[in-house]
Amino acid sequence: MRGLHRLGRHLHRHIPYYRGIDPARPDGWPVIDKAELLENFAAMNRAGISLDAVRDALAAGETRIGDHAIGHSTGTSGNRGYFIVSDAERYVWLGTLLAKALPDALWRRHRVALALPGFSRLYGAAGGGSRVTLGLFDLGEGIDRWAGRLAAFAPDTIVAPPKVLRELAGRGLIARGTIAFSAAEVLDPVDVPAIEAATGRPLRQIYMATEGLLGVSCDHGTLHLAEDVVAFEWEAAGDSGLVQPVVTDMTRRAQAMVRYRMNDLLRLDPRTCTCGSALQAVAAVAGRCDDLFVLPGSAGPVTVTPDVLRNAVIDADRRIDDFRIVQTHAAAIAVAIPAGADATAAEAAVARVLARIGARAAITVTHGIPPTDATKLRRVRRDWRGDQSSMSAV
Ligand SMILES: [Zn+2]
Repeated sequence: MRGLHRLGRHLHRHIPYYRGIDPARPDGWPVIDKAELLENFAAMNRAGISLDAVRDALAAGETRIGDHAIGHSTGTSGNRGYFIVSDAERYVWLGTLLAKALPDALWRRHRVALALPGFSRLYGAAGGGSRVTLGLFDLGEGIDRWAGRLAAFAPDTIVAPPKVLRELAGRGLIARGTIAFSAAEVLDPVDVPAIEAATGRPLRQIYMATEGLLGVSCDHGTLHLAEDVVAFEWEAAGDSGLVQPVVTDMTRRAQAMVRYRMNDLLRLDPRTCTCGSALQAVAAVAGRCDDLFVLPGSAGPVTVTPDVLRNAVIDADRRIDDFRIVQTHAAAIAVAIPAGADATAAEAAVARVLARIGARAAITVTHGIPPTDATKLRRVRRDWRGDQSSMSAV
């Protein structure tokens, strides 16, 4: 609570959008979403930098405006988040991440390879501190460009999106004993075995977004929310048992990230982790709200969550080690599975799930997984954006 009150005084004094708030009453501060943030961008950062200025600078290849680093999330241009951080903040952020990921870094040396979207731009040639040596590998350049440099760097810890870890593991570029963290994308359990087979250790997760550092797995493998730096509130996503986070970053001062409704869907774990941490455990980051399928049902639109669909497809045939599930139309689902996997079983599994929840859709199953480009991999995706009014059930 002290962190929130201190943040409240800062917002009230320095961030125009929050001039009218009661600094001592966080529950009265407005809940915002991405559209609201983008619309009021200049009023939500201390320097008054406009969204156009950030976009123009990024388009010109700049990574800074004055004393601030700027950047955007991955994602399609219409769906991007933009951020402004002070120099002090970006190192506090990196330091918090490393301290949570490597609590033994005080007395043990580490060589940490970071291959994360935007990181090379944000941190340049950062070398790290005396105990932690950082190696930055630019995802935009492609793995081929830095595979040799990664091997020479010989990291004991590697942080990268799951599809990149799987690719590195497949090429024999991850040494046994390496601590691997999946980050920046939803971790699908289908990617885990190949990575763990390479490292011989449990795969861990860093849950992060444009909105900041949100959680890190402990060495018992449980993803814990970073409640010491971010205040979380929850909104239920229908009656799915999934929740949508509303986050307040208590550390950021240059740009406000306050009661911001994220697009993610989480399944919380009510149990206390055996590691003893009191920080909330997360059973799964299940996908994104705008990838909830909305299908016709006998009593109106029915919402189907990504994890239910993926589990159905994965469990249909053990040869399915990758997949795509896309809502392509109001009542149509396209499933892609690897060549040689059982299409009839996959179709029947999806049909069973739909029947159970009373939803209706034509299901087509094809063989062959479409190639993934550099943007975020979403295996379960809603492409159909038709009648938005029917989405209100979400
Ligand atoms: Zn734990």
